[in-house]
Amino acid sequence: MSGHRIVILGAGYAGLSAAKRFARTAREAEITVVDARAEFVERVRLHQQAAGQPIASWDLRELLERKRIRFVQARATEIDTERKQVLLDDAPALGYDTLVYALGSTGGTGAVPGVAEYAYSVATPEDVRRLPASLGTGPVAVIGSGATGIELAAELAEAQPDTRVVLLGAEEPAAWLAPKASAHVRRVLERLGVEIRGGVKVVEVTGDGVWLADGELVAAAATVWTAGFDVPDLAARTGLAVDGGGRVLTDASLRSVSHPDVYAAGDCAVIAGPGGRELRMACATALPTGMYAAEVISARIQGREPRPMKFRYLVQCLSLGRDDGLIQVLHADDSPAKTVLTGRSAAWLKERVVRFAAAGAGLS
Ligand SMILES: Cc1cc2nc3c(=O)[nH]c(=O)nc-3n(C[C@H](O)[C@H](O)[C@H](O)COP(=O)(O)OP(=O)(O)OC[C@H]3O[C@@H](n4cnc5c(N)ncnc54)[C@H](O)[C@@H]3O)c2cc1C
Repeated sequence: MSGHRIVILGAGYAGLSAAKRFARTAREAEITVVDARAEFVERVRLHQQAAGQPIASWDLRELLERKRIRFVQARATEIDTERKQVLLDDAPALGYDTLVYALGSTGGTGAVPGVAEYAYSVATPEDVRRLPASLGTGPVAVIGSGATGIELAAELAEAQPDTRVVLLGAEEPAAWLAPKASAHVRRVLERLGVEIRGGVKVVEVTGDGVWLADGELVAAAATVWTAGFDVPDLAARTGLAVDGGGRVLTDASLRSVSHPDVYAAGDCAVIAGPGGRELRMACATALPTGMYAAEVISARIQGREPRPMKFRYLVQCLSLGRDDGLIQVLHADDSPAKTVLTGRSAAWLKERVVRFAAAGAGLS
């Protein structure tokens, strides 16, 4: 293993959890982490920041060098898989023996006209910095009744009780959870004054608001799109085998199915979970898959057979403002069980889970 060059692309939850594990399991290797950002910001708190709450950040160089891991702040622009090197925009090319591809995701547009031009996003720290002042005065339309849309709408409505916040989605909010859970989400959103528009199809976003398929305009001074993430196109441009959305196809050991020196983890990877069901884009996926990628790579370079990945989701947690929340217990296949925890205790537990995630990425 001595001198084996491991390059980790991306210092999000997946990349950092891989780096943390490598620091224990591959001490002799030369480990380098590359990220375009100088700082790690907790992505799972960006809806809080969008509603005006300060959130912490960590200096990546300081954090990684403490673990004797080299950090290069640069954007990866190309991967030359023949020469086994990564080309960077602001630093010399980096050679690798094994590459961990963990570039995560960004806000999507759902190919809906006007989203790219007129809608805002809370998917990345840069998106949150671009949010307009009109988010504070409203009316605000939040498109997407998945977890991010629900959390954002609740946070905005709680922070700005006089602002009209409309949550629009193809389904009712939290429709994928147990009936008790989705009923609680609706109750809290209504209590906070969020106007819920479920079962609607958004066909266009303009400077005036959101056009629905039935011809109605939902007027908004600011529109935020939360309905789905996109992944960077670097893997597809590089010729790695990817799915239709550009995520890296991996085998059971998170190895690229087309390039054996490349492994992928987190949002940018297609990973089979229990029963072959695809794992979802989540911090709850990124952390364990980053760690497992590091374990597999360390074992293989030491000539050992890695253990199979044991993975299952236990709960899904939603914050509903600062004083309420929801913990949905999950079956092994990620479907919702009957057990649901709500209210202050759920909010408290969700906060613990977020702190636990930060510790998993080595941030504590
Ligand atoms: C508001 C919000 C709330 C969320 N809440 C939850 C939650 O409660 N629970 C949950 O499980 N998940 C939640 N998520 C989802 C979760 O944040 C993501 O699934 C998780 O961050 C994915 O981690 P990752 O390491 O794969 O990617 P990311 O966190 O996206 O990290 C990728 C890293 O790669 C870097 N990068 C990208 N391209 C390049 C490049 N070309 N060169 C160099 N560096 C590059 C980026 O700068 C970034 O640091 C939430 C997301 C949002 C937006």
